[in-house]
Amino acid sequence: MAKTCILILLDGLGDRSYSFLGNGTPLEAAHTPFLDRIAAQGSCGAFHAALQGQALPSENAHFAMFGYQPEEFPGRGFLEGLGWGLDMHPGEVALLAHLSYVSVHHGALILEEKRPDASPEEAAELIRAVENWRADGIWFRFHQTRGVDGILVAGGPVSRFITDSDTMMPGGPLCAVRPWASQAHDPKARKTAKALYAYLRFAHLKLDDHPVNKNRCARGESPANAVVTQRAGAYSGVEPFHHRWGIRGLSISSGAVYHGLARFLDMDVIKDSDTDQPGDDLARRVGIALEKSGQYGLIHVHTKVLDEAAHKKDPNLKMRAIEALDKGLEQALAGHLDDPDILLVVTSDHSTPSSGPLIHSGETVPLALHGQGVRLDHVRAFSEIACARGALGQLRGKECLLTILDNLEMSKLQGIMDTPEDQPYWPGNRESFTILK
Ligand SMILES: [Zn+2]
Repeated sequence: MAKTCILILLDGLGDRSYSFLGNGTPLEAAHTPFLDRIAAQGSCGAFHAALQGQALPSENAHFAMFGYQPEEFPGRGFLEGLGWGLDMHPGEVALLAHLSYVSVHHGALILEEKRPDASPEEAAELIRAVENWRADGIWFRFHQTRGVDGILVAGGPVSRFITDSDTMMPGGPLCAVRPWASQAHDPKARKTAKALYAYLRFAHLKLDDHPVNKNRCARGESPANAVVTQRAGAYSGVEPFHHRWGIRGLSISSGAVYHGLARFLDMDVIKDSDTDQPGDDLARRVGIALEKSGQYGLIHVHTKVLDEAAHKKDPNLKMRAIEALDKGLEQALAGHLDDPDILLVVTSDHSTPSSGPLIHSGETVPLALHGQGVRLDHVRAFSEIACARGALGQLRGKECLLTILDNLEMSKLQGIMDTPEDQPYWPGNRESFTILK
């Protein structure tokens, strides 16, 4: 019986078909003997963390995959803040923020360049100029995280239910900041939207006039003259992962949002930085997972390299990155495929098309389940199309984790109530019957 599931999460793996790749996806076109071996020796399926056709960001896809509902999601700004170790308090709101280059057309701010290539010194100096702002009881504090990126924390009578100013689409205007329609009559949401407008206006005027930007313009470089914001979040209570699923979780990754998500769910975190060798990075993370395997029921091993390759809109680049990851997995796992204690799942959080305008897209991703006793199907290759013909069929949302519990021999027979809460795992955290009063 497997005791630990190692969940290899190849972020943004799914893609579309390209004629110059023989009408295949980057995964289909890539030479991946080890991933194919895992698929051939296991059970395969097509996974989507929500509904097919929905384009999910990594944080929402992971949240759903870990068995949580959209209404429990605290917002990415908060998760990233947590991942960066920011000092945030209940009631405060955290937004993703960064410096951009904007022009002004009839008063509207037009996004010209998402992230101007300011030097570390320039970025730090510009951010310092707009670091703090306060009016009418609401304050904003811009924490630099990396380069021109940061987290904007807001305090006072604030609400996270406000829209994004960042459109992420150069050539068009930034968006007006408004309360969500569902919160349109909430005074806090209205006041937050108004205050954020005032801060962003202040930041643009201040940055546009800043000597660092004047010098950049004089050198023919684009100024980093606006703060843009998106995906506000705030602290909310949530049931810990080990309580909801009966297993302890560990996440091994490089990105702040994954560190933040794991901390939010009370999973343990190992931060492992990226190098320019993605295959070696993944092999090292799998090695750590194997070392720690006896201590956890689920170990999430994450790599962001395919998603980043796809965002460069180059299918060939993504194909080569997939091949590097395949080599890394072989290096780390080839000697462990017969380990009866390990259940291996290889999948992704969402598709990231390496052409076209979409950031992520809504197709399913392949999933392979490998371990002692799993049903063997006829799939021989690990790809979006081949896995969709596998024995697991279509898996949605928390079905992935339920399937993992099932293969760890922990799924509860429905109707058994060994605890007051109807948990999905068995045995539950039972209270002993005693004749002592
Ligand atoms: Zn992702």
